[in-house]
Amino acid sequence: MDRYRIPPGAAVRLGALPTRDDGGMDKHEGKQRLKELNERLEALQEMLYAEGKHKVLVVLQATDTGGKDGTIRHVFDGTNPQGVKVASFKRPTERELAHDYLWRVHAHTPGNGEIVIFNRSHYEDVLVVRVHGLVPPERWSKRYAHIEAFERMLADEGTTILKFFLHISAGEQAERLQARLDDPTKHWKFSVGDLAERKRWDDYRAAFEEMLSRTSTEHAPWYVVPADRKWYRNLVVATVLVEALEGLGMSYPEPEDDLSGVVIE
Ligand code: AMP
Ligand code: MG
Repeated sequence: MDRYRIPPGAAVRLGALPTRDDGGMDKHEGKQRLKELNERLEALQEMLYAEGKHKVLVVLQATDTGGKDGTIRHVFDGTNPQGVKVASFKRPTERELAHDYLWRVHAHTPGNGEIVIFNRSHYEDVLVVRVHGLVPPERWSKRYAHIEAFERMLADEGTTILKFFLHISAGEQAERLQARLDDPTKHWKFSVGDLAERKRWDDYRAAFEEMLSRTSTEHAPWYVVPADRKWYRNLVVATVLVEALEGLGMSYPEPEDDLSGVVIE
């Protein structure tokens, strides 16, 4: 999965990175592997919770219809809601806008034993905010450095950070938007505004490329996930996550009391 990780300082061109990959597998095999990863993730997450020593932050960013919701559903299938939280970042409220842009984000970062998934994140403040000129360039252009420092602080204080950009093609987005339009049970997800965003594809691509080029670090790497195939996208995210958790060298805590010889009557 290393091939999807952006090395620090790399100049990213999204056009050169795949949206469609299969890792040499077919869908059936991919789904089978995901099941195994789900089970491993479930066990690792339980140990993380029991041990209460590590904090894990997963950041998901994508264009509209990129698959953030589906990734969360499929990758975290089977994990315990007690130790896994999702924080979704929508258009900021008035109160949030009255503060600096990291204020609302910091409140949701994980504590010991927790995995927190950011469904959108502080990166919107260099994406939609940049594309729509919601603040002037003098302001958003300084944010890459703030974000880098913020994430370094989180990492220095014991947070494992993994960031995923779900990379889909314009053609795939068109198909997914059409599918939402054709299915009345998906209309709630369809926003006419998404069509206006789609027209700004190139502006978003430039914003994503600068984000990836400037904020992929050793302590908080970006992975550009080929996401046109949903099953492969899930597999990549689950694999990176499981490997990162296995790398923490966790163990169950020792019991508080000596349990040898304890008999339940
Ligand atoms: P959705 O994820 O489809 O529910 O949409 C959430 C919307 O909130 C998207 O259109 C985002 O671009 C928008 N959003 C998220 N964060 C910000 C932000 N910091 N400033 C402006 N819009 C935002
Ligand atoms: Mg949307």
